[in-house]
Amino acid sequence: MEIRAHALRHNLRSIRASVGPGARLLPMVKADAYGTGVVGAVAALAPERPYGFGVAAVEEGIDLRSLGVREPILVLSPTPPAAVKAGVEAGLTLSISSLEVLDLVQSAAAGRPAAFHLEVDTGMGRSGFDWRDAPQWGARALQAHAAGVRWTGCFTHMHSADEGRPTVDLQWGRLQEALAAAGRPEGEFLVHGLNSAASLRCPEYAADLVRPGIFLYGGRVGPDQPAPEDVASVHARVVHVRSAPEGTTLGYGSTYRSQGDERWATVAMGYGDGLPRALGNRGHALVGGRRVPIVGRISMDVSVVDITHVAGVRPGHVATFIGSDGDERISVDEVAELVGTISYEILTGFTPRVVRIWTDGSAAGGS
Ligand SMILES: *Cc1c(COP(=O)(O)O)cnc(C)c1O
Repeated sequence: MEIRAHALRHNLRSIRASVGPGARLLPMVKADAYGTGVVGAVAALAPERPYGFGVAAVEEGIDLRSLGVREPILVLSPTPPAAVKAGVEAGLTLSISSLEVLDLVQSAAAGRPAAFHLEVDTGMGRSGFDWRDAPQWGARALQAHAAGVRWTGCFTHMHSADEGRPTVDLQWGRLQEALAAAGRPEGEFLVHGLNSAASLRCPEYAADLVRPGIFLYGGRVGPDQPAPEDVASVHARVVHVRSAPEGTTLGYGSTYRSQGDERWATVAMGYGDGLPRALGNRGHALVGGRRVPIVGRISMDVSVVDITHVAGVRPGHVATFIGSDGDERISVDEVAELVGTISYEILTGFTPRVVRIWTDGSAAGGS
């Protein structure tokens, strides 16, 4: 996988241009920066001076600290009780979705500086305090704040921002209602609710901070929204080339059979690398600047493409499963749509066997 740092920064600047200079940027780098490699992502984003970084798990935040990240790190998923102490010790800003965990943060802090953001459930349903119960959780959070654990923010998460504005309007209204009923502490207090899609579609709700993810990594956030620059491309080497006389069977289950005299190239990437197996007999690769079909089932370690119409393909040549080659391009969204999923799952699905190479020159190409 080749990842272009300048494109990642470009996409972050697009988010900033949408929400304006008033909102802090918290790029999400969870799940190894959406599969691109968190070390490279943090280094690439540093020149943009983001306010901090967003992760899902305490362990991810601790990893960032050990990389030398000094900026605020916000852990967005509810903190499991067993991880509270480590999170406080690493100076992470934890998300609180229950009073039990808030108590644990208070006892883990015991004089140490500790801060939390409180999650409000406005319709996502998976975590957070119900927005209708704001008087209760607000009072308890203010109490904790008075006792020395800093309550520094309140947030919600949009469930359908990629589909349109009505639910974003509704959820934002619920958050405002909750905030008014809950009260807020003195000092820094960050209100936030926008992911990539909402940052582009409803920037007027950017408030104090936005949390873009997929758009930074090159995933589209809706057909009616601007496209990001391509960030990650996925390449593998041709390792074998053969001619396949009519009727030659291919792969497990022999689900493909040459239709005439064909030429096939075996490429060193399979589902064990995260190439979706559902692309077998369905997806494409780019070889020699041409789009060629993936034929037969994808194996764990290799896949096969039909190169009958591409001259001169040899072992060592590059096949591109996501990215550009010549005038041809396969986007991560095209692959996702073909196999019935979303770009997030495709990107995070590439396994450690796929080497991540970050490049910074805008002229960098992988083919
Ligand atoms: C993953 C995540 C984001 C980023 O969402 P994208 O759709 O990738 O922009 C923002 N906020 C929370 C709470 C998340 O879990």
